[in-house]
Amino acid sequence: MAYLGNPGNTIEVLQKYNFNFQKKFGQNFLIDDHILEKIVDSAELTKDDCVLEIGPGIGTMTQYLAERAGSVIAVEIDKALIPILKDTLSDYDNVTILNEDILKVDIAALVEEKNGGRPVKVVANLPYYITTPIVMGLFESHVPLDSITIMVQKEVAERMQVGPGTKDYGALSLAVAFYSKAEVVTIVSPNCFIPKPNVASAVIRLKVHGEPPVTVKDEAFLFQVIHASFRQRRKTLMNGLSNAPELRVSKQAVSEALQEMGVSESIRGETFTLEDFGRLSDILLEKREK
Ligand code: SAM
Repeated sequence: MAYLGNPGNTIEVLQKYNFNFQKKFGQNFLIDDHILEKIVDSAELTKDDCVLEIGPGIGTMTQYLAERAGSVIAVEIDKALIPILKDTLSDYDNVTILNEDILKVDIAALVEEKNGGRPVKVVANLPYYITTPIVMGLFESHVPLDSITIMVQKEVAERMQVGPGTKDYGALSLAVAFYSKAEVVTIVSPNCFIPKPNVASAVIRLKVHGEPPVTVKDEAFLFQVIHASFRQRRKTLMNGLSNAPELRVSKQAVSEALQEMGVSESIRGETFTLEDFGRLSDILLEKREK
């Protein structure tokens, strides 16, 4: 089967199967072999690696992944793409194609089954409409991960890297900092895709930490506190946290915790560092209603 990094070959496959792009699935297929090489190089694959690819499309990047990695699990939601993938990947016996919605897959169980629970490398040109839930889901459900190398919208790559005090700072930036070290590999023009997306893109590599940079008593609670703090951006931490029933903390408890930290009650989440959130969640954990 011909390489799909070549645009002519991609168009031939699309025509052969009379494929209709589905906007609702964020389908923009890569047609630039330099970018494909860059993504796969930066993922640093070896034959010992198992790769999880989210949204293989017609299998363009999957071909590169299958050649460099030991095995590839490719999860694709669009039923119409499955016969195409079977065709374009017919030369490879190390690819498993699953016709599933990635947001509904128990990825930790899948990794246990396919890679004996050893860390996998995620490599994907993501569907942009669900970038945040995919990345948050991978981190928060404790899938064993080595790294995540993904194409995302350029603005989202920026949001993943910013620190406190900027308007883009939020739960995604904090999760990325807690779980990984982020590095932008390259900026990608809309011309590298068919059809062209309306936005610029970036490849970002998240190398997952062995140990998080901040130690907390309860990681799930830390992220509940973070999510509640950014749910309504204009609210103070005081209001955001005491209005979040899942936290089970009273206004009085939040007020005491902020006092203990020596910060004002009018402070907003966007000025809090990861360390601040770690300390706040540990203090609040002790003050939770049973
Ligand atoms: N990897 C291909 C490439 O680079 O040419 C396609 C990338 S395209 C941006 C995103 C792919 O994700 C599409 O094939 C789309 O059908 C698939 N997709 C969208 N939502 C999905 C979901 N919830 N679960 C799995 N795949 C999904």
